[in-house]
Amino acid sequence: WKHVKNTDPEIYEVILKEWERQEYGLELIASENFASLAVIEAMGSLLTNKYAEGYPGRRYYGGCEWVDVAEKLARDRAKQLFNVKYANVQPHSGSQANMGAYFAIAETGATLMGMSLSHGGHLTHGAEVNFSGRIYKVVPYGVDPETEVINYDQVRDIALTHKPKIIVAGGSAYSRIIDFKKFREIADEVGAYLVVDMAHFAGLVAAGIYPNPAEYAHIVTSTTHKTLRGPRGGMILTNDKDLYKAINKSIFPGIQGGPLMHVIAAKAVCFKEALTEEFKEYQKQVVKNAKTLAKELEKRGLRIVSGGTDTHLMLVDLTPINVTGKAAEIALGKCHITVNKNTIPNETRSPFIASGIRLGTPALTTRGMKEAEMEEIAELIVTVLKNVKDEEGNVDESVIEKVSAQVLNLCKKFPLYEGK
Ligand code: PLP
Repeated sequence: WKHVKNTDPEIYEVILKEWERQEYGLELIASENFASLAVIEAMGSLLTNKYAEGYPGRRYYGGCEWVDVAEKLARDRAKQLFNVKYANVQPHSGSQANMGAYFAIAETGATLMGMSLSHGGHLTHGAEVNFSGRIYKVVPYGVDPETEVINYDQVRDIALTHKPKIIVAGGSAYSRIIDFKKFREIADEVGAYLVVDMAHFAGLVAAGIYPNPAEYAHIVTSTTHKTLRGPRGGMILTNDKDLYKAINKSIFPGIQGGPLMHVIAAKAVCFKEALTEEFKEYQKQVVKNAKTLAKELEKRGLRIVSGGTDTHLMLVDLTPINVTGKAAEIALGKCHITVNKNTIPNETRSPFIASGIRLGTPALTTRGMKEAEMEEIAELIVTVLKNVKDEEGNVDESVIEKVSAQVLNLCKKFPLYEGK
């Protein structure tokens, strides 16, 4: 980083401090991961300089011969990875992938049915404050209050009553396998398009350890930076040629201008990595780690929403130990354990306080941590949470010191970018 150091010491310091935070802390945010240095190099490359409005072979600018190669590679690898006919790799983010998908199939004012935010859906699945909730008439579905998993009969009833144009499946805090076949049957019954947002579990799908939504959905959207471990960005997949044409139009010129060619190149690198055997093994370990972490937390008195996890993430209900999500996030943060507070099904508190935390294992697994470390981390988490003194997440200095030392020890044993 010598150039940024010379030009802008303040930003250099930010990068350095953030590197330290990532290197020497335990990252348990379920939507985060650590991209490889190959991905980061491609993303930090001079491809950022290039304007390339349009699509490979049909650009509005000259000089696109090399970025065309990058975008074609990214598209082809995405198609291979998810076994689909068409891929658009231009969305700048997951939110824009969803916007692009919706705009390809539904006009303003149409009815969109998605999982509500408070039950694990994403903002773009119809939250009032989001474009999706402002542009579409939203009918939410949630999880069953008893089982805390999706009740497909309820989903069907809501769909039959409201006849949505779009049904969105997928979420940000749902830890179970989703039955895409059932969703498609419901969509067909009411004449809706099924959009599956696989942002969270895309890496698991790529590794063949989560059902591939592309077998059932009209459109699949995703981010590339969560379990998939690529650069921050989005993509849209489909098997339908007409839908593909509509998606391409809705992304450009519909909602975006020039694609981020450096990010698209980094997506290509990510997909290449995701096609390897090593990546499959990594994803298997991510899920093993999540199951172990859930079990070990449960053993120590916490409640896992829906009784466990099938994926990389879990929702932990902190009511049994009388700590709020907000206090837990602050307290763990003081010990260099990063998590996010999260509402749980049947939540009684505001989303700013919340009764739970969401934990995920993709980032720790990238460092090479396995089941033994998950057990140790569960113990550290519970030690901190049982010592939370108030709503502000205060914890005795002695606990912070002891846990922080163990965290540092673990991080040094499993270096991230250090020495690479
Ligand atoms: N979809 C789901 C399921 C997500 O969890 C997220 C992000 O957390 C997104 C879409 C949006 O992605 P981005 O933050 O890149 O806009």
